[in-house]
Amino acid sequence: MPVYRIFLNVDFQDRNDAKSLGTKWDSNLKCWYMHSDHLNCETLVKRYGENKEVKRQSNKRYREKNKEKIAESNKVYKEKNKDKINEKHNCECGGIYRKSDKARHIRTKKHVKYMEALPKLRN
Ligand SMILES: [Zn+2]
Repeated sequence: MPVYRIFLNVDFQDRNDAKSLGTKWDSNLKCWYMHSDHLNCETLVKRYGENKEVKRQSNKRYREKNKEKIAESNKVYKEKNKDKINEKHNCECGGIYRKSDKARHIRTKKHVKYMEALPKLRN
C-alpha cells in the first residue's frame, strides 16, 4: 500500500507533544502531519483528529502541480488496459455493457424492467 500523509488538528499548545510523538510540521500547509505507516497512526488520529481541509488543499495542489503527469499516467493506464476497459459484459437482462457503463446500464429501462420481473420469473 502506498504511504500517504495524514494531516492532524494539533493545537498550538500541543505542538511539542505532537512533535515528540513523531509528527512532522509542513511549513507550506502550516499543519502537522504523519505518514500513514506511522506506528501510532490510529492513536494520533484519535487524539488530534484528522485535518481534512488541509488534506483537500494538499490533494488539490498536487493535482494542479502534476496535471500533465496525471493525464499522462491516465493515458498510459487506459492504453495498457484498453481491452479490459472496452470488454463487453453480457447482462442477464439481455443487454451488453462495458465495465465503466455498468452504473448507467443498471438504471436503463430494459435492465430495471428485467429486475422487476425477476421474482415472478423465478416463482
Ligand atoms: Zn442488465
